[in-house]
Amino acid sequence: MGIFDRMCADGHEQLIFCSDPAAGLRALIGIHDTTLGPALGGCRMWNYDDEAAAVLDALRLAAGMTAKSAVSGCSYGGGKAVIWGDPKTDKTEHLFRSFGRFVESLRGRFITGTDVGTTYDDFVWAAQETRWLVALPESYGGSGDSSLITAFGVWKGMRACAEAVWGDPELAGRTVAVQGAGKVGTHLVEHLHSEGCRLIVADIDPQRVQGLVERLGVEAVAPDEIYDVECDIFAPCALGGILNGDTIPRLRCRVVAGSANNQLADLRYADLLHERGILYAPDYVINAGGLIQVVDELEGFNKERAYRKAGAIADALRRIFQVSAEQGITPLAAAEELVRTRIDRLGRQKRIHLTTPREGRR
Ligand code: NAD
Repeated sequence: MGIFDRMCADGHEQLIFCSDPAAGLRALIGIHDTTLGPALGGCRMWNYDDEAAAVLDALRLAAGMTAKSAVSGCSYGGGKAVIWGDPKTDKTEHLFRSFGRFVESLRGRFITGTDVGTTYDDFVWAAQETRWLVALPESYGGSGDSSLITAFGVWKGMRACAEAVWGDPELAGRTVAVQGAGKVGTHLVEHLHSEGCRLIVADIDPQRVQGLVERLGVEAVAPDEIYDVECDIFAPCALGGILNGDTIPRLRCRVVAGSANNQLADLRYADLLHERGILYAPDYVINAGGLIQVVDELEGFNKERAYRKAGAIADALRRIFQVSAEQGITPLAAAEELVRTRIDRLGRQKRIHLTTPREGRR
C-alpha cells in the first residue's frame, strides 16, 4: 500500500519527512488525529531496516497515541516521531538540535519527548531549539522519566486483569513472564517482585537481565523462549508486533498485559487471543501512564495527581472488560468503541462557533 493510501485508510492527517544531512538527521513526524488537541507522542530512535519500516512505525505509533489519549480522557491528539539511526552510535547534540528545530517549526501542533532509544538527556539538547517538549529532567523543569509511572500503570492494570480472570486482583504467587528489561520492564519487575510474583525475564541485551537476576533473583530465559514459558501473565515490554500468528499459538498464559506499544502485529490477532481464552489488555490502555504524566505536566505537574490518574487505568480496563463480556466482543473492540465515541462526541462539539468573523479569518 502506498503512503497516501495508508494515511487515508487509517485517518492520518500529516506525515513530515525531516532531513538534515549535515546533522545526520533522517526523521519522520506522524500526526494522526488532532480532534482532541495538539498531537502528543514520544520520539523513537531506531535503526530501521529500510525507509518503509520507519514510515510504518511512525504511522502506527502516531495512531496508537490518538487512541491512548482518547481512552485515557486526555485532551490531546495522536502523534509520534521516529529518528532513523542507531541509538548506541549515532546520537549527537547536532542531531537532536536539528530534530528540535523541525519540532519547533510545527509551533505546538506536535509535542514530544522520550521513547524507545531516546532518553531525556537527548531532549536537553533539543530544548535549545524548541519549547514543545515534555518529560525533560526535573532539573530542567520537566516531570522527569515517564517509565516509572508507565510501569506503575501497567502493574495496576495487571491487577485488574487478574481480577477479571481469577476473581482476585492479588498477584502474589502468580508467575509473570516479562519480555524486555528496559526502563519500563525493570520498574515493572520491581513492583511485581515486591508483590511476591515469580518472575521470568528475557531481553536481547543479556546484561539487563543479569542485573535483575543478581538483584531480585528473577529467572532468565533466551529472548525467543519467552513465548513458550508456562506463566499466568505474559508482559510484552520490548517492541511492537510481537503478537502474531507464530507467537500466539505458543503462549501458555491466561493474560497478556504489558507496556509495549502496538503489540499486535495486526489488529485481527486480538481475535486469535480471544479464541485461545487469553485476556488481552489493549496496549494503549494499560501503558497510558507516561502519557498521563506528560499531560499532567502540560497542565502544571502534580506527581500525586498524576499517579492517582495512572492508577485509574485499572478502572478503564475493568470497564472495557465489562463491555467486552456483555457484548461478546474482544477487549480491543470494546476499547476502540470508547475511542471512537469520545472523538466523535468531542469533535462534534467543536462545531460550536467561538470566534467573531474577523478573528475567524486569522
Ligand atoms: P527501553 O528501550 O528502555 O527498553 C526496551 C527493552 O527491550 C530494551 O532493554 C531492549 O534490549 C529490549 N528488547 C528489544 N527487543 C527485544 C526482544 N525481541 N526480546 C527481548 N527484549 C527486547 O524502552 P522502554 O521505555 O522500557 O519501553 C518499552 C516499551 O514500552 C516500548 O514499546 C515503548 O514504546 C513502550 N512504552 C514506554 C513508555 C515509557 O514511558 N517509557 C510509555 C508507554 C509505552
